[in-house]
This record gives sequence, structure tokens and C-alpha cells, in this order.
Amino acid sequence: MSGEPQADCLFCKIVAGEIPATIVRETDTTVAFRDINPQAPTHVLVIPRVHYRDGAALAAGDPGAAADVLREAGEVASQEKVAESGYRVIFNSGPGAGQTVFHAHAHVLGGKDLQRLVV
Ligand code: IMP
Repeated sequence: MSGEPQADCLFCKIVAGEIPATIVRETDTTVAFRDINPQAPTHVLVIPRVHYRDGAALAAGDPGAAADVLREAGEVASQEKVAESGYRVIFNSGPGAGQTVFHAHAHVLGGKDLQRLVV
């Protein structure tokens, strides 16, 4: 559990503007930017500005920010014009699930057949 920025966190550095990112949307509580290694034509990460290790920790520690991340995932899908064709929102939780960055983030994926996609 946290909420405070972590000095060694890549996504806290993106929130702080210390590392460049291709930002597609921002709110008071969230930042959405393109994944550096896209797995679909649309592959955007939506992160809370506050630091929690994964989606469940975020929901427990800051339910409002968790709701904001989910709402923004939908807004990204609309903005990217993949809402109608269908899109996927994924939270990897833990190394066994493939999580590599331990700052909560939602992958928003769309623009191709997603039925067998793993990120
Ligand atoms: P995870 O595997 O669910 O933790 O997702 C982390 C994602 O962050 C991966 O899809 C990476 O490609 C992506 N990523 C890592 N570093 C950067 C960056 O600097 N900018 C944008 N995306 C990044």
C-alpha cells in the first residue's frame, strides 16, 4: 500500500514528466500514454497519478482513483475509435501474470482481433 510517489518507479517518473511518454489523455487523477511495445494497433496504458503496486491495491487504497482509471480506459477507447469494434482492458497483477512495472496500470487494447491476445 502506498499512494506516495516512489523514487525508483518508472511510471511515477512519467507522471512527474521526468521520462518522456506519448500522452493521449490526462486528468487530475490519471495519465494515459502509448505503450512503448504495442501489442495491438491501439495499446494505451492508463495509470493513476498516485502510486499503488497493482489494480487491487489501488482499488483498496484509493477507490476514486481506481474508478477514474476505468472511466478513462473507456474514454481512451472512444478517442481511439475502438469502442464500437470492441476493446480489452487488462490489469496484470504480479510477476506470474506478466506484470513488469509495479505501478497500477490498465492496458487498453483494440484495433485487431483480440481473442487470443496476451500482454
Ligand atoms: P505490465 O507487463 O502489465 O507490467 O505492463 C508494463 C507495460 O509497460 C509493458 O507493456 C511495457 O511495454 C510498457 N512500458 C515499459 N516502459 C515504458 C515506457 O517508458 N513508456 C511506455 N510504456 C512502457
